[in-house]
This record gives sequence, C-alpha cells and structure tokens, in this order.
Amino acid sequence: MPIARHTALFLLTTAVATTARAQELVPGFAAARPDSTVKSLVDRLDLPRYKATVLGLTQFGDRRQGTARNRAAVDWIEAQLKSYGCTNTERVHYEYAGRQIRPPVVDTLAAGRGNAGRGGAAGAAGAGGQRGRGGLTNPPKYGRGPTGVNMKPELQPDTALQRINAEPDTPGPREEVFCTKIGTTHPDEMYIVGGHMDGHGFGAAANDDGSGTALVMVLARVLNSPDVTTERSIRFVLWNNEETGLNGAHAYVDQRKDLQGKESPAGSGKYPEPKWLGMIQHDMMMWDHGMPGPDGKVSPDQRREADVNVEFAGTSKFADQAAKLAWFFRNANDKYATDYPAAVGDRMSNTDSDPFKDLAPAISLRENERLAQTGSGWNPTWHQPIDVFSTFSDQDFRLGLNAAQTTLGAIAHLTGATIRK
Ligand SMILES: [Zn+2]
Repeated sequence: MPIARHTALFLLTTAVATTARAQELVPGFAAARPDSTVKSLVDRLDLPRYKATVLGLTQFGDRRQGTARNRAAVDWIEAQLKSYGCTNTERVHYEYAGRQIRPPVVDTLAAGRGNAGRGGAAGAAGAGGQRGRGGLTNPPKYGRGPTGVNMKPELQPDTALQRINAEPDTPGPREEVFCTKIGTTHPDEMYIVGGHMDGHGFGAAANDDGSGTALVMVLARVLNSPDVTTERSIRFVLWNNEETGLNGAHAYVDQRKDLQGKESPAGSGKYPEPKWLGMIQHDMMMWDHGMPGPDGKVSPDQRREADVNVEFAGTSKFADQAAKLAWFFRNANDKYATDYPAAVGDRMSNTDSDPFKDLAPAISLRENERLAQTGSGWNPTWHQPIDVFSTFSDQDFRLGLNAAQTTLGAIAHLTGATIRK
C-alpha cells in the first residue's frame, strides 16, 4: 500500500539541505544537479524489473559459497552486468579454507539463538549490548522470535530446490565480480555500491541477499545506460562469502586498499582502484513486518510503518562522515522514494561494509535494524527454507525498490550524474 507523505514544503527544505550536504560531503562538487535529472534516473527503476532480477538470482538456489551453484550465479551476474553496459567486469580472487556444511549436521534452530555461519561475528540477538525491543522483562518475553541458520536440507519442501541446493561447500579458491562506471572528471574517486550474492539455509536466498544483489544490479543497469554520465566513478560489487564472515569483502579490502587513487600505468588516466569516497552495502531489503507477537510469530503482512534502515557504525574511525552520508541518504529517500521512508541508526553491523568502516565512510541499507530487530527474530525467513521468491508480496518487493530509489537518488547527486539529451 503506497503511503503518500510528500508535502511541497518538505520537498523545498530537503532540496536546500541536500545541496548543502552534497557540497560538504564531496569536495569539488560544484553544484547539485537539477533534481529533475536525478528524478528522471530514479524513474527508470520499476517493480517488475526488480522482481525479475531477484527471481533470476533464485534459479541458483541458496547460492552457498564454495559450490557450483554459487559459481554459476557469479557467471550469471557478470553476464547481466555486461548486458547493462557495465562491460569492464573484473573478479577478485581469494581462498576460503573453512566449511559451512560439515557432518554431523547440527540444527542451530533447535540449539537456540545462534548465528552459525557468520564466522564468529557478533550476531546473537542483543549483540553489541543492545536490548531487544518490546519487552520489559529480562529475558524479554515479547518482541523476540527464533533466529538461526537452517542446516537441514530436507526441510525444503520444494524437491526441485532441494536438488539445486544439494551440493555442500568445498574449501578452495573463490571469486566475486564487480564492474565500474568510470567518472568523466574524477575517475580517480568512487562510491562503492554493494550487496552479497551468497546465501545459505536451503531456501533460494531471495531476501538474504537476492534483494540487495538485485538492487545493485538494477542500479548498475540505470547508471550504465549509454546516455548517462557521472563525474565520479561508481563501482558495483557483488560480494561472495558474506555468510562465512565477510571473507569476500575482507579479501577486497586487503588486496586493494593501498591501490586507492593511484594511476596505473602512469600517465594512462586509468585508476584501477579509485579512492573510496563511500561504501554503501545492501543486505536484506524487503521484509519489515514488525516485531514478533507474544507467541513468537511475525505478521504475514508488510507493516504500514515499514521503512528503509540506513545504518553507520557510531564507533568507527569515519563515524562522523559516515553519519553525514547516512543523513544524506535519508534526504535522498525523502525526495525520491515513492512509498516508504528511511530511518538512520548508528549500529551498522554484520555485513560487508564492516571491513571498510575504518578506511572510508561506510553505511548499510536494510529492511530492519540489524542488531535490535533482525537479531531479535523480526524476519522469520532469515536463513530459512522459506527465503524463496514466492514468500514475498509486492509490498515486500516494493520496500526493496524504495531502497533502490534511495541509493540511486543519493549516488546520482554525489557523483554528478547527467543525462545526455
Ligand atoms: Zn545477508
């Protein structure tokens, strides 16, 4: 259900604030583009294409890292990026020696509220010293549901999907793909727009993180249209091995952080790793059905108060700049998102923006706050067999689309996007 919430006055004040912040955030950003240009770009996003992109990703099942279905998904994503005009695709190569599936299989749901597969990252409910909401007792009686990773393939009722998900992971070499829109006047600086393409739980990783991966892909399509130019560069990255502990993002940071802003070969005008102006991660974009009831169950419907949660890490080295970036995204949501508002929080956690947070301004966009809400079981599809395309309604998909509108609006401003007439 679309929510009308724009007023003329609100638009006017946010337009002024957005321009000021854009100049503050981006040194050399001469003048904000006319909002009509950015709006024209945002208008190129649509729900059917976003849904189709999520659906396309689900053909590879849960895309567990270290499997043929994961590698096939990387190949498919790369082919899509090229077809959008983002033809300069590259791959990051790294090794992953761990295992997600090892006998005997353990049912982490029955074992309690774990976060298996996160490589020991703080993931349990209430992590980071944050209490779950909605309960005054300790442990809270309300506002909590079960969390964990399904480890039982037989819990997937769709036998075709069971077959797709059958292969366990094998330690060894890994790859992840990215492509780059090169800036016309500042090719040496970029924003990174990311989502993780791997998943687990024996569903189809439609929401975690097909929804974020599809968002990055539909943005790559719009921003690489032949008539669009940007002054600064934009890199579209689909991380692998997020679910094992952000290993793909860590590999990227380790291999490339020291290459930032360096021209190579000298005099070529080419910058293999433009300086990181910001890292924007998208992880679980569709489900905001509110807190679990006293019975631990969550509503089947998107709540009317659903929002896009923009989080930065309040304790990171770049906290001040990341906070500015987060508020800038909220302004972009005010201006360009059609249905759902955005909220800002300072507890970014457990996703691929984390390895960047002390090196550049980093934020994440999500359906819920990661620690207080997701971590308290607000999304019963999380890492479960029901994380399949058919679980989600158009209201759910529309929240993902609104996050895409938010990021596209913000990034178009920040990189000085123009449309050639
Ligand atoms: Zn995720």
